[in-house]
Amino acid sequence: MRDFNFDLMELCAPGVRGLKPYEPGKPSAELQREFGAKDVVKLASNENPLGPSPKAIAAVRDVVANLAIYPDGQTHELRLAIAKKHALAPECITFGDGSDQNIEFLARTFLQPGYNVVISRHAFAVYAIVAQAVGATVHFAAAHPVTHPRTPYGHDLDAMLACVDERTRLVCIANPNNPTGTWLYRTNLLQFLERLPQKVLAVVDEAYSEYVQEPEYPDCSQWLQQFPNLVVTHTFSKAYGLAGLRIGYSLSHPRVAELLNRIRQPFNVNNLAQAGAMAALSDSEHLKNTLRSNRAGKRQLESGLQALGLNWIPSICNFLTVDFKKPALTIYEALLREGIIVRPVHNYDLPNHLRITIGLPDQNARLLQALKKVLAN
Ligand SMILES: *Cc1c(COP(=O)(O)O)cnc(C)c1O
Repeated sequence: MRDFNFDLMELCAPGVRGLKPYEPGKPSAELQREFGAKDVVKLASNENPLGPSPKAIAAVRDVVANLAIYPDGQTHELRLAIAKKHALAPECITFGDGSDQNIEFLARTFLQPGYNVVISRHAFAVYAIVAQAVGATVHFAAAHPVTHPRTPYGHDLDAMLACVDERTRLVCIANPNNPTGTWLYRTNLLQFLERLPQKVLAVVDEAYSEYVQEPEYPDCSQWLQQFPNLVVTHTFSKAYGLAGLRIGYSLSHPRVAELLNRIRQPFNVNNLAQAGAMAALSDSEHLKNTLRSNRAGKRQLESGLQALGLNWIPSICNFLTVDFKKPALTIYEALLREGIIVRPVHNYDLPNHLRITIGLPDQNARLLQALKKVLAN
């Protein structure tokens, strides 16, 4: 193909020039193509190994008959259901094509060159990417030290607050956080919000909230009345098992939601996603099964990892981030050759760790078996 006769970077928006795109977990089909591996076990993207609720699958099937019609741009039915779930007005909700898109809406609405977002050092990668894309700066706050008794590598809210200046527009907090699996107590988060200037939006990403059953874990949607600058994001990709449908939402003050909806394309959430999410919400039994399976899988993985002499970051989520005490990419690659996909987290400033999604019993067993073999070599 003929190339440009000038430097294409000149045309490109400044924020995009230095941008490194998000690195997703390797798809199973890719590993099959590359290594001819059969029976690939993917424990790389924190997907629900049980899949979605059977009710969600049935609902999606029903909608397939209506693919010729545009989706409801207001996502009306699901909006009412979610408003009820969180006891909030329907105007507080903004839907996204996955909650990644909700995070992108926040960046595009509130950030621009000269302004910044504050995030923790090992926070979810999307926050920095969407901020950089619009030319804003990222202030990385130091995380808790490895020696922290409860949340090593977790968010240090005091350090985050210290990074806030007059040019800060957003602070992004994942509770619990990916890739550390650490979580914040109600009292600490509440104190943080009380001290944060109202001109700074606090985004609390609750992608894994369903997995947390601790009394000290806050449901931040209940604080929206009190903090107009609070935004809470949720997704159907994790515990609800609908990562492939792409649907998430943010909860905020209606005036914030009105701004976010200005840049939202009207049909960003498709027919299948709306119907699937609606049905998934109604199936509390499946959610219970998911949590039960995750608890058992976690016990299995933890005792297996312990037997191998490995350490991991204490996690409340559906994954464990394991410390190999040396650059972990070679272990990642050796596991690929065994047909197992996990997630390198060097781009999260954790080069010695790998993130392992908790799978079904046989998947966990295969991972542990492969790990044992790889570590012996
Ligand atoms: C997986 C994840 C998300 C969102 O995923 P979507 O599929 O875009 O909804 C958001 N935040 C964190 C911390 C995640 O791990």
